[in-house]
Amino acid sequence: MPELPEVETTRRGIEPHVLGRRVVALAVHEPRLRWRVDAAMPAAVAGQRVSGVRRRAKYLLIDLERGSLLLHLGMSGSLRVMPGDTPRLTHDHVDLLLDSGQTLRFNDPRRFGSLHWLTEDPARHPLLRDLAPEPLGDDFDAAYLHRVSRGRRVAIKQLVMNSQLVVGVGNIYASEALFRAGVRPGRAARSLTRDECARLVKAIRAVLAMAIRFGGTTLRDYVGADGRPGYFRRKLHVYERGGEPCRRCGTPIRQLVQGQRSTYYCPSCQR
Ligand SMILES: [Zn+2]
Repeated sequence: MPELPEVETTRRGIEPHVLGRRVVALAVHEPRLRWRVDAAMPAAVAGQRVSGVRRRAKYLLIDLERGSLLLHLGMSGSLRVMPGDTPRLTHDHVDLLLDSGQTLRFNDPRRFGSLHWLTEDPARHPLLRDLAPEPLGDDFDAAYLHRVSRGRRVAIKQLVMNSQLVVGVGNIYASEALFRAGVRPGRAARSLTRDECARLVKAIRAVLAMAIRFGGTTLRDYVGADGRPGYFRRKLHVYERGGEPCRRCGTPIRQLVQGQRSTYYCPSCQR
């Protein structure tokens, strides 16, 4: 499933090709996505210039003159820019044809992705209005994490993966950030000191920023076309390294199941 770093990588990848371009046509080849694509959408968006390409959580927003396209990649979706006359493949469901002659093409084998046309402030849309702070935004800081963790017995790893408190911190990022912060994943959230909250916020931001720099970390991206493990994989300290020596101290990494997800930590580096 595309995680926040992949969505941000996609945003950065498409932005230079899309920003400032005019939409020649929106072609919906398969409207049956997670929600049916509105049949009136192609007529509504044609002819408008793209004024922005933004991300909120795992949603992409393509701002046009009279509204915004809201797109979610779902479980298996991807967006690519290519010449407009490129033959379509199976699962190529939507084309946003641009005046450059290129198309922004949406492919989604499992069709859990979605496409909406919003003419009101996107921040008020039901899919976006209740989202928690962005982990890379100013609202997510030590004071915030300290405040929302008070009185909570839940494990700190589960707390930072709770999308009602902060969006987009998946299992791999939570595991790696907790290692960097020196905090055990099973600790009760309420037991973290203010300093530990500050270290954890910093670590979450650093891990996500690194993942974005390397283009994301989903499993299919771990192994490159030549079959060699990707660069980010070699940077991981604990994730999927159960039994292997800690890269910092040599102690075997421990693996346990927490909330039905695998968790990894170093019993010596993390307290
Ligand atoms: Zn260690």
